[in-house]
Amino acid sequence: MVAGDPPAMNVPLQDDGAGALTINGARYLLIRPETLAALQKAVETVAGRRAADCLAAGGRTGGARATGSLAGAGEERVRSLLAMGTAIGWGRFALEHLTPDALVVTVHRSPFAEAYGASAAPVCHLTRGVLQSLASLTLGRPVRVTETACAAMGSAACRFEAAPE
Ligand SMILES: [Zn+2]
Repeated sequence: MVAGDPPAMNVPLQDDGAGALTINGARYLLIRPETLAALQKAVETVAGRRAADCLAAGGRTGGARATGSLAGAGEERVRSLLAMGTAIGWGRFALEHLTPDALVVTVHRSPFAEAYGASAAPVCHLTRGVLQSLASLTLGRPVRVTETACAAMGSAACRFEAAPE
């Protein structure tokens, strides 16, 4: 653990023994990052730059459900969602900055960036979509989220900036 990181969260993963894993009643699945990277590259082949929007849409849906399930509000809810992201293996999330007009999050060891490999553009669109849902709810209006640094581009960490549209 690194100073400044959110505290580790103990995720109560439940296995019903019949093919379903749940966390607090919500269904989850384990999937290799390579599976998602291959899906992402296939969608990019078909849809080009619009692939990023498709993946972000998926992230927004999951992010809205995850955010809605969390207790608390404001910074407490933000920190809970980031701790959850870390706990379920989406990388090591940290809150860099939160004001009424901005939310900035960094993620070390993004599995999406690691599985994708080197890229000239950011690749963590699923995470970006999740953070868009979180930021919209937290800032109370529609937001745009930009991945301003990505490990796939050689950065030490991925960094996401949310601001009102
Ligand atoms: Zn990234």
